[in-house]
Amino acid sequence: MTAVLDTTVTVTADVVAEQGTPIFDEGHCPGTTSLAPVVGGTQTVPVSGGREVRYANFDYAASAPALTEVAEAFTAALGQYASVHRGAGHLSQVTTARYEQARETVRRFVGGRADDTVVFTRNTTDSINLAAHILPADGEVVVLDIEHHANLLPWQRTGRARVVVARSTFAETLAALEAELAARPAALLAITGASNVTGEVLPIRTLTALAHRHGARILVDAAQLVAHRAVSLASHGIDYLVFSGHKVYAPFGAGVLVGRSDWLDAAQPYLAGGGATQNVALEETTWHTGPARHEAGSPNVLGAVAIAAAADAIDHLGYELIGYHERDLLTRLDAGLAGLEGVTPLRIFDDVDERVGIAGFVVDGRTAREVAEHLSEHHGIGVRDGKFCAHPVLRRLGHADGAVRASFGLGTSSDDVDRLIAALAELTR
Ligand code: PMP
Repeated sequence: MTAVLDTTVTVTADVVAEQGTPIFDEGHCPGTTSLAPVVGGTQTVPVSGGREVRYANFDYAASAPALTEVAEAFTAALGQYASVHRGAGHLSQVTTARYEQARETVRRFVGGRADDTVVFTRNTTDSINLAAHILPADGEVVVLDIEHHANLLPWQRTGRARVVVARSTFAETLAALEAELAARPAALLAITGASNVTGEVLPIRTLTALAHRHGARILVDAAQLVAHRAVSLASHGIDYLVFSGHKVYAPFGAGVLVGRSDWLDAAQPYLAGGGATQNVALEETTWHTGPARHEAGSPNVLGAVAIAAAADAIDHLGYELIGYHERDLLTRLDAGLAGLEGVTPLRIFDDVDERVGIAGFVVDGRTAREVAEHLSEHHGIGVRDGKFCAHPVLRRLGHADGAVRASFGLGTSSDDVDRLIAALAELTR
C-alpha cells in the first residue's frame, strides 16, 4: 500500500543537518522547498481551460495532509490490526500495546507530567466538550471572544462561561483578563494557543501565570499550535491541553486531551459503556479511573497510532527547523499580500508579531467566496473562506460576512506561495 502513496520528496532534517551549520545560509533556504513529504503532495486538479495543475493546498489550518511517515505507520498498524483491550490473541496484544504506546508518545510530545491523564478523543471539539463535562460543578470558566466555537460553545452550554472581549492589544487584553479573574474567582481559563483566524500566537507562560495567580487552572486549545510550536504542559505549567490529529498531519479521526487527573477521575464518565467499567451489576456500576473512564466503547486505535507517528515525525524534524521553514514562507506570503492593491490582512492584536502559518485577509470589492472560487477554478489553489467557526471575532473585526484564510505547513513550498500571490495579483489588478 505504501508503494502507491504519492509524495513530494524534499528537504528533511537529516538532509539539512548533513549540510552542516549554519543550516540556513543564503544559498540554502528551506522555504524554497517543502520541508517534509506529504501524501498527495503532487496531486493535480482540473482548472479552467481544461488544464491540470498541481494542487496548492493552503488549507492546512482546517486539515493538514498526512505526512508520509504517518501514512506508513498507519499502514503498518493496519497490517497487524486486531481488537484492542480485549483479546488474548497475539495481534490483539500487539494492537493494545500500540495504542498504549501512542498514549505515552503523546504525553512525551506535549511534555505531559507523569501523573497527567492522556485521553484519546475524536478531535479538539470532543476534547473541549470532555473538559466542560469534568469542570467542577460550581466552577466558572473565563474565555476570550476570539475563540473558535469549539472553545466557546461547550462552555456556553454549561451556563458558567464568562466571556472577556479581547482588546486591540494583547497587553490590554491581559489586563482585562486579570481584572475578570480578580473580580470573581474562576475554576478555569480556557484559551487558544494560536488564533485559527490570524495565526497570532498567544504567550502561554504569561497566561498560565495569570490563571494560577488567581487560583484558576488553564486549558490551552492547541489545535493550531502543536503542528508549529513546541508546547509542554510541564514546563509551561499548563493544566489541560487539547488538539486534533487532523491538524498535525494525522487525519484519521482522533484527538487528544492531556491534563490533571483529579477532575477527570472525579467526573462521571464522559460516555457510559464498555471499557470504562470496573464492575457492573444491574443496579450499580463502578467505573475505572484514568483514561479508560472517559474512553468507553472501542477506541480509534489507528487514529491514536497516527497521532503518535505524527508526534515522532515532528520531533524528528524538530520545531526549530519547522519554525524556520514557516517563518520564511510567512514572510514571503505577508510581503506578497502587502504588495497587492485592496488586500487587507486580518489581525486581532496590534502587539502580537508571532504567528503560525496562517494569513487571514479580505479583498476589496470581492466576497471571500468569490476569491476562494477564483483561486480554485483558475489556479488550482485551495484556501478557506468563511467565518472559520469563529463568528464572534469575525463580527467584531468588521468582517461578519467572512474572510479568506491561507494556511500552510510542512508540505508547502515557496513556489506555492508565489503561485498564490500571482493568482491574487491577477484577481486584484
Ligand atoms: N480550536 C481551534 C483553534 C481550531 O482551529 C479548530 C479547528 N478549526 C478547533 C478548535 C476544532 O477542531 P476540530 O474540528 O478538530 O474539533
